Amino acid sequence: MSTKNALRTIDVIRRAGKAADAYRTAQHAVREAHDDHGAAQAQLHHWHDRIPAMGGTDRASPLLAAVQEHQEAEQKVRKAEARLQRAAVAVQAHRPALNRYPTERLRRRAITVLLDRLADHPVDLIRAADLIIIQTSSGKDSLVAMHRTVAAAKAAGCLHKVRVMHCDLGAEWPGVPELARRQAERYGIPFLLVTPDGGFLGMVEDRQMWPDAKRRLCTSRLKRDPTGPVITTWVRELGLDRQAIVLNVMGVRGAESASRALKARLALDTRTTSANRLVLTWNIIHGLSEQEVWQDIASNGLEYHPIYDTGLERLSCVYCVLAGPDWLILATRVCFALELPHPKTFAELERRIGHSFKQDFTLNGIVAAARMLDALDGPITWRRGDAVRRHLGPAAADQYLALTR
Ligand code: SF4
Repeated sequence: MSTKNALRTIDVIRRAGKAADAYRTAQHAVREAHDDHGAAQAQLHHWHDRIPAMGGTDRASPLLAAVQEHQEAEQKVRKAEARLQRAAVAVQAHRPALNRYPTERLRRRAITVLLDRLADHPVDLIRAADLIIIQTSSGKDSLVAMHRTVAAAKAAGCLHKVRVMHCDLGAEWPGVPELARRQAERYGIPFLLVTPDGGFLGMVEDRQMWPDAKRRLCTSRLKRDPTGPVITTWVRELGLDRQAIVLNVMGVRGAESASRALKARLALDTRTTSANRLVLTWNIIHGLSEQEVWQDIASNGLEYHPIYDTGLERLSCVYCVLAGPDWLILATRVCFALELPHPKTFAELERRIGHSFKQDFTLNGIVAAARMLDALDGPITWRRGDAVRRHLGPAAADQYLALTR
């Protein structure tokens, strides 16, 4: 099957699934509307039977209420039945796909198999795409994802389709947005900086709570939600009279965590996909190890953020709600060394809202522990190239520094 046909088939199966879901929901709504109608009818009969025995002025309002409720229930039944009819027409239109993949499980399986085959042929995938968006944190994985996407796009003669976006939450290490821009500029690809209202600290102030692993509003509300409107604008700019194929590239690696290991290389983004765009999340470096990522960075002289040289292995927010105590203490000591205001700002916010940064410990405790370690061992130090040195050895670090001088 050609790439274009595979993409078309994925969308046909997706639409068929949506039609089947809508039909089920409409059936449920009809049942509910009939139940409400039955209850309203019983109420009307109740008042109808009692009215003759009631006094003149007492009768009007209960009777009127029962009549109105009954009329509303009738209208709800009519609307629900009309919706069911429309849903039935849509199901009929998707009958061939629904006959072939009658259950949700089979539809999901068919889409997964097709996507897996497409992921084996990145150049074909890029040729079939209309827009390729690289969502970068400017961290090491995003950097390598960008480098590999650009290499594949160049091989396909499609570099003009690639754009980069970065979400600045205002809580990252200094220089992150500027670095994201430079990383994109290296390849000559357009760059968009998105700054969600209020940023990370504004969101915490509003909610008087820190996000946590179960409610990661920092990623869903501040990073994921702004992506939809950007895709809408960019797809509109393409001016296509057919559904656009959008690849949304992320620097997610399976080796990072058990949940990431379960993610597919290529996945259908059902939340952002619509009639006018089929959006696929492309975890282009899903199979790479951390060592391989550093190898790519070192051998290609890619500019990484100096924070990696301190021993921190992720370029996250300065204080990430997912991080453990060791990581947070090290981040605090790096802040001390760089004279950054974050420990004071975050610890004050924690005191003000009265909600602990993590369930098991406070940020105020982290800051105090970091201060004690600094007093015992002295401030931490690092040299440019230490991250490469740590992962690939001194020779690779020397080579990298010579390459990026
Ligand atoms: S780096 Fe951590 S705190 Fe920042 S947005 Fe991501 S999960 Fe939230």
